Amino acid sequence: MLAYTYIDRGRFALTEKERPFLLEAEDAIVRVTLASICTSDLHIKHGSVPRAQIGVTVGHELVGVVESVGPAVHAVKPGDRVAVNVETYCGHCFFCKRGYVNNCSHPEGGWAIGCRIDGGQAESVRIPLANQGLTRIPDSVRDEQALFVGDLLATGYWAARIGEIGKDDTVLIIGAGPTGLCTMQCVRLYHPKRMIVCEKDAERRTFAAKLCPEALVVPPEGLVNFVLDHSEHGGADRVFEVAGSSETFRLAWQCARPNAIVTIVAMYDEPQILPLPSMYGKNLVFKTGGVDGCDCAAILQLIEAGKLDAEPLITHTFPLCDIEQAYDLFEHRRDGVVKVAIRCCT
Ligand SMILES: [Zn+2]
Ligand SMILES: [Zn+2]
Repeated sequence: MLAYTYIDRGRFALTEKERPFLLEAEDAIVRVTLASICTSDLHIKHGSVPRAQIGVTVGHELVGVVESVGPAVHAVKPGDRVAVNVETYCGHCFFCKRGYVNNCSHPEGGWAIGCRIDGGQAESVRIPLANQGLTRIPDSVRDEQALFVGDLLATGYWAARIGEIGKDDTVLIIGAGPTGLCTMQCVRLYHPKRMIVCEKDAERRTFAAKLCPEALVVPPEGLVNFVLDHSEHGGADRVFEVAGSSETFRLAWQCARPNAIVTIVAMYDEPQILPLPSMYGKNLVFKTGGVDGCDCAAILQLIEAGKLDAEPLITHTFPLCDIEQAYDLFEHRRDGVVKVAIRCCT
């Protein structure tokens, strides 16, 4: 079968591989219908994910149809349409029991798919710990609607959940890339009083404003004053930093009111500085990233109910044989691309 493979630092290629088969009792084999390209795939390509294995099939955001299951799999059965969770987790270790599935202590726990073990930019994929890692897609939900459940939407949903949003809050979201857009949609589920979305790219600002018309969408220039003018207590009550630069990290705490919660969703390339003397007395609470992706069923219910809709993020679709072209478009942000879907099997 065809599989998009991490060949070496800086190089992915479409290769011919053997079809995966069941290895463990809790495994499932999933025929991939739709996969997507994530910024983390680019991080692997450029060598900034040290645990990524050379030779691995990449891709960790996908939906498909269950082909076969091991004897210990009870959550799904062959023929089920499923969303694949980016994280594999055992469900019963110290961390899993507390909902911190990102820190699952199982050897295959955490982000394994498309990083340490073969992933989903392929015709077929083996999913370990399938009882936790696969979620049945309701019949009325299309693949395109479910594609981002296991990664982007899981991240947005988790961030909004730990962000402790109240109805009187002014919420600031920094970054309106794919993760920022999903965070914005999930924040909206809590009906905060006001949402401010900050994004430097004009095209992305337009996209965000269309997706969430009630949000105030602004560029980073003058953000601190804008937030002061559009909040009641000297800054945003809740801040989500999804952009991941030193500048946006600084804006995140500068725009927060005293005693605000600042949730860091972004992944940074380098360490960030917390200038404690300048922040003294602000009494901020920081929460830091690494999605706990254990809410896929709840997310799918919200999609089914029409309360979450990330399908508009798919701006382009390519067949698996043209994935090279899809990466080129996504990586160089051509043609207004937000997310690319890869059709792996029909
Ligand atoms: Zn991802
Ligand atoms: Zn666990």
